[in-house]
Formats: sequence, structure tokens, C-alpha cells
Amino acid sequence: MIVHLDIDGERKEKLIRISGTVDNQFALAGRWLRGNLHCHLEEGRWVDSAAGIYRDLGYDFLAGMDHDKTTPPDAPGELLVIPGAEMSPGHLLVFGLDDVSFLRARAGERAESTAEMIVRAKEEGGSCYLAHPLWGGWTREELEILCDAGLDGMEIVNSSNWKSGDTVSSDQLWHMMLDPTTTLSAIGGDDAHGPDNVRDGDGIQAIARARLGWTGVLAEEASVRGVLDALRAGRTYASEGPEFRSVELRPDGKLIVRCSPCVACHFRGRQRGYGGRSAFAPDEQGVAEEFVFDFAINGYRVKDHLIVILEDESRRKAWLSPLRLDLSIQARSEG
Ligand SMILES: [Zn+2]
Ligand SMILES: [Zn+2]
Repeated sequence: MIVHLDIDGERKEKLIRISGTVDNQFALAGRWLRGNLHCHLEEGRWVDSAAGIYRDLGYDFLAGMDHDKTTPPDAPGELLVIPGAEMSPGHLLVFGLDDVSFLRARAGERAESTAEMIVRAKEEGGSCYLAHPLWGGWTREELEILCDAGLDGMEIVNSSNWKSGDTVSSDQLWHMMLDPTTTLSAIGGDDAHGPDNVRDGDGIQAIARARLGWTGVLAEEASVRGVLDALRAGRTYASEGPEFRSVELRPDGKLIVRCSPCVACHFRGRQRGYGGRSAFAPDEQGVAEEFVFDFAINGYRVKDHLIVILEDESRRKAWLSPLRLDLSIQARSEG
């Protein structure tokens, strides 16, 4: 929902007028669901057991992402099964297509070939996310090619990559790629290969000893279509634990974030001024379930996007897909 702001504000000591729009895609009376959009079922040989394991974790949906083919888990009905595959080259996560065999990679450079898959998958109604971008060793120029092709988002958390030089978080790469024309949604996954593959450290039991990454979505309804629509609309977040419960922007410019108990909520834009801003739980309580970003006071700091990051007592985080901003700032005189 586009929210129009036209409010008096401050830039440090100076008086300003902030006007324009904020697109709050989370202004929807829907259901927050959680799931794993990245695990390897057949390669991990746990097609029959994965649904039960994730159901016991409290998940609502699961995508079996084998390399270059879709593998739905057994036991339908236990979880919403999201069709998807991890495509080569580039480790591109494609959702929403039952058959990915037409996405044949062409020979040549990795970025160009991956970009071509993005275009073709989206033509057929799929949505495309880059798995573990930091692990992938992408350059900025290569990522720009993928963004120009229409990449929908990135895996901000990939738990399995803890064992691979701790390339779990791609937070900074993600932030770097946002610009007025590029909005990348945030998803997370655990990339598990089996229930307990201890030797390679990528079984879900082994990963869970560190922390499991997952994706939260705000869906209009608890269905496969509801999850896929939420992905396309960017109503997602990547999490290592914290949960978003609502994101409300009021006409007075107060953005109110409700969540599971957290010690802090970080608000980060592409900057006009230096840095972002963080809100902390009151000392006497230690944690809070509501945090506020006030555009009247801190809106001057952010440009074209606002990222919201939750942090809990164990320093686990959750990254909300960016809200798009189009704000102008004018000086104003007193009175
Ligand atoms: Zn991968
Ligand atoms: Zn994978």
C-alpha cells in the first residue's frame, strides 16, 4: 500500500518538511507463515522424512530445491509444498514452476547465463532469488547483470554455509545492490542436505546446532498460491529466529514494527546522512515487542529504501524485505 507522507520534521537542529510516498507492502490483513525455501531432498535422500521434520519445527511451507530439478517432499498435507529448484549455473533459486527442464543454461559466462534463466523463468511466472550470494563469489558487476535481468531477491541467510568459511550472511552485498530501480526481497534458508549428515556438516541436525535460517511471508491465505504471491510482492523476511508480526506506517510518519521479543530493531536506508538508526528495548525490560521509526526525526537519513532488522537476545537477526521510498525534503521556517 502506498502511504503518502507530508509531515513537519527535523534534520538535526534544522526544520524540514518531508513529503512523498512510502510503499508498505506489509499493510495487508494476512497471515504470517514460516518455511524453508532451500533444502535438498533427493540429494539428501530424505524425501520421505523432511515434511515431518519441518512440521515439528513449526514450519508452514517447504520447497524441495534439488539441483536443476524439482523434488516435492512426500507426505502432502503436512506442509504447503512450494515448487522450486536450484538452477545451475549461479545457484539460482526458482520458485513457482512445476517443470524447470526448459531452463537450460547456455554455455558461456556465469552471470550472463544466469541472467538468461531469470528472464525465461519470469516469463513463465516464476520468481528468482540468488542463493548464498557471498559464498558464490559474485562481483558487483555480475550482480548488476542479474539485477538488470529482474532478480527478485537474495538469500540473506544460508545456514549451511556456516561450514563454508562462514558465508552465512549476505547482508552487505544485498544492501549494496539496492538503488532507485532495484529492490531485492529478503529470504532465508538452511540448505540442508538430509536429516543428519554430520560428516559434511550440512544435515539439518548439524546445522541446527548453529542456527537455522528460514523465510517468513505475509500471505493473504495459507496456501501455495498465498506463499507464491507473497514472494512476488516482496512480503517476506529472512530470519535466524526473530519473527515480524506487523509493520504499520501511520500518516504521521511513525513506522511501528511489532515482533517476537527482541533487544533491538535496526532501521537502515540507503543514506542521505550518515548511518542508520537503531531502537532499543527499555533497559528495565531487556526485550520489547514493538519498535518505532519516526520519519519526522530520522526520515532525512534514508533514501529510496528502508531496511528493518530485528535482533534478539541471542543476537539472532531477521531482515525485512525493503520498503520503497520516494521522499523529498525541503527546508521550512519556524511557525
Ligand atoms: Zn547452492
Ligand atoms: Zn542448495
